[in-house]
Amino acid sequence: MTRTIIVVGGGPAGLSFVRSMAGSPHRLVLIEPQSREKLAAPPADGREIALTMRSETILRQLGVWRHFPEGEVHPLRSARVRNGSSPFAMAIGPEKGDALGHLVSNHRIRQALFETMVDQANVDLHCGRKVVRASTDPRGVRVCLDDGSEQVGDLLVAADSRFSAMREQLEIDASITRFGHTMLVCRISHSLPHQGISTEWFDHARTVALLPLAEGMSGLVVTVPDAEAKRICALGDAALESLFAGYLGGQWGEIALVTRPQAYPLAMTFAENFATTRSALTGDTAVGMHPVTAHGFNFGLLSAWRLAELVRDAADPGAGDLLRRYAIRHRIATMPLYEATRHLVGLYTDDRLFARPIRAGMLRLGALRPVSRIMGRLLSEARST
Ligand SMILES: Cc1cc2nc3c(=O)[nH]c(=O)nc-3n(C[C@H](O)[C@H](O)[C@H](O)COP(=O)(O)OP(=O)(O)OC[C@H]3O[C@@H](n4cnc5c(N)ncnc54)[C@H](O)[C@@H]3O)c2cc1C
Repeated sequence: MTRTIIVVGGGPAGLSFVRSMAGSPHRLVLIEPQSREKLAAPPADGREIALTMRSETILRQLGVWRHFPEGEVHPLRSARVRNGSSPFAMAIGPEKGDALGHLVSNHRIRQALFETMVDQANVDLHCGRKVVRASTDPRGVRVCLDDGSEQVGDLLVAADSRFSAMREQLEIDASITRFGHTMLVCRISHSLPHQGISTEWFDHARTVALLPLAEGMSGLVVTVPDAEAKRICALGDAALESLFAGYLGGQWGEIALVTRPQAYPLAMTFAENFATTRSALTGDTAVGMHPVTAHGFNFGLLSAWRLAELVRDAADPGAGDLLRRYAIRHRIATMPLYEATRHLVGLYTDDRLFARPIRAGMLRLGALRPVSRIMGRLLSEARST
């Protein structure tokens, strides 16, 4: 029997879930405030997403990977983390193979997901519409849209971002950590090669990272206090170039700005439950990661895939035992890295005098080696899903 699943949010996680439900007998109603044109051709948003090997496997199985334009998938061979001007670095290498994963721009991921799901037979797309109210009970789900219309169904999948209105409507609390820092992301060109290595270093009052893209091009990621981020964003191109050249200290040769910085205020969120009556949370709505460990979308994709596996052919996709199983599995998969990231970010954004020698000491003594091993394993984890 065909049942109806209402998906709120057509971001990367909502689209991944809908795509993972291809071939299911159930009908999917996807509601997303952005226009169809914007979903089909999303503008660049500056995010370069490090995809793990496991995400690559899932995206290949979903038929999404082949939609990435040629020359827009960049291997991430290894990563190193430095503290200030110290010569010691924590190295993160692949456990297997010759790469930790691949970097693909967020808008390319969204575009490829949309292209693969747009002709899916079991999908009703409601673009340019927002859900304003949602309620669930053991018999079903009801959502009200901003044009006054209603949709009813058997399962609600909330994928409406880390500050999710649906999560609130479902009365699920979330722990939220705000850092008072903003991440600025842009592309720069440089005259010296990056060799596929990403570098991140923690300096006084800021963190800087370079993500290797095409030859002679990297994604520059600068994390600074919120007020400083506003000041930097207001600078003209020439002033930005000279500021960034100062941050990089000539290590990548001559640099030039390719795109202007986009700003992301940083916060981590973790929902108290990932499921309740006839509803499940996926993507950032369940777990909103800090970008430093590059796992937000990777976790979102995994959650969408696992939820779809459980409900795809179920007689009742909103059955409580299925949703509880999903919630437990995803909590176990995400909680350790979430907590490790929260503590790591705390240590590395703490610029009080006593934190600096602790960081330097940890790198020098190799105290972060277990972290680097975990990161290496997580990023290049087994290709099985
Ligand atoms: C700078 C930066 C770098 C990152 N790097 C990485 C990385 O290297 N690796 C990685 O895995 N992750 C990374 N991430 C995280 C990744 O970008 C996010 O985890 C991912 O985009 C979240 O997708 P989502 O679909 O859950 O949420 P979102 O992208 O926030 O999408 C939510 C969607 O819900 C819609 N919506 C909102 N309200 C409603 C409503 N009421 N009704 C209907 N629809 C609604 C919105 O329009 C939106 O389309 C990074 C993030 C940032 C900021």
